[in-house]
Amino acid sequence: MQQLEKILVTRSSMPDYEEYCEEIKKLWDSHWLTNMGEEHVRLQQELEDYLGCQHVVLYTNGHLALENVIAAMQFPKGAEVITTPFTFVSTTHAIVRNGLTPVFCDVDPETYTIDAGKIEELITDKTVAIVPVHVYGNMCDVERIAEIAKKHGLKVIYDAAHAFAVKYKGVSSANFGDASMFSFHATKVFNTIEGGAVCFPNDTLVGTLNDMKNFGIRGPERCVFVGGNAKMNEFQAAMGICNLRHLDREIAKRKAVMERYWQHLDHVPGIRLCKPQKDVEPNYAYFPVVFDGYAATRDQVFDALGEQGITARKYFYPLTNSFECYRDLPTAGTEKTPVAAFLADRVLTLPMYADLAPEDVDRICEIVLACGK
Ligand SMILES: *Cc1c(COP(=O)(O)O)cnc(C)c1O
Repeated sequence: MQQLEKILVTRSSMPDYEEYCEEIKKLWDSHWLTNMGEEHVRLQQELEDYLGCQHVVLYTNGHLALENVIAAMQFPKGAEVITTPFTFVSTTHAIVRNGLTPVFCDVDPETYTIDAGKIEELITDKTVAIVPVHVYGNMCDVERIAEIAKKHGLKVIYDAAHAFAVKYKGVSSANFGDASMFSFHATKVFNTIEGGAVCFPNDTLVGTLNDMKNFGIRGPERCVFVGGNAKMNEFQAAMGICNLRHLDREIAKRKAVMERYWQHLDHVPGIRLCKPQKDVEPNYAYFPVVFDGYAATRDQVFDALGEQGITARKYFYPLTNSFECYRDLPTAGTEKTPVAAFLADRVLTLPMYADLAPEDVDRICEIVLACGK
């Protein structure tokens, strides 16, 4: 039998080897490897331009970016933050590691993002913020969330880890709420190997975030703040500069992959695909499929793909409000978020990356469809 190549759920975008070498060559001249060097400054500027966003503060990863921006808001310990459990654990961890209590809101059955219609019933006199997630690059209902936040005096910090380069009504996802966090992890649409950023529209956070990510040091003999260390280094920034040059082409290739998936899987009874959102320019970050009333369960499809060397991902399963580190919280429990629980049991993200060959998409879909016969 012909040995078919294994397919992983994602494959990191990389520039040509020579292009990256050219970009990092100057580091051998300067010996300046980190601490906001030239590459760092340049990437930050390029991202501000690309995103049309006033302020971008770069980080060594997305998680610390989110943890720091929440800390920068200086909420009182024990205050409540409304978020969703249908996300990567990082979102909930960032809240809890700041001494805050996560309150889990259910998600919308179409977009898998926070159900804005269910936020207000969770607001108490302890609520200080909402941390919604643009899941799979789907935009949250940013307008409704802004209204609710204004009415109740809450901060809004978006976990935009999935939503780099997504636009809503022509405006970058970086420009909603009080701040947004992007992840530039190797598995994301745009990567700096590991990396992340906080983006926000006004000046108030710049100083605090820069202090937080660099020990609160403001000069050789001045330390003004009890900060940590979460700086992006020059090799990461160089990778970002190279990857940003090719990003629009990578996204166009992802679009072609997604269209091929739709050709095979649209209108198959029992298979639900994530519909394009009105007014949204997407980034095609993931390809989630929900098996609801299909002849095979999600787990059966997952196993069938695995047997043929294809790794799909049960993303997001389990929900964060069921993990053992959270399930004893009074606010945890998946019964409080039934839509998220329903999706977590049925969703599978299929392989999705720019260089996924059309024949491979065909092969993946053949296996998925064979499970339904
Ligand atoms: C990737 C991711 C993060 C964490 O980002 P890192 O860069 O890996 O630290 C946070 N939230 C979500 C939703 C993510 O997908």
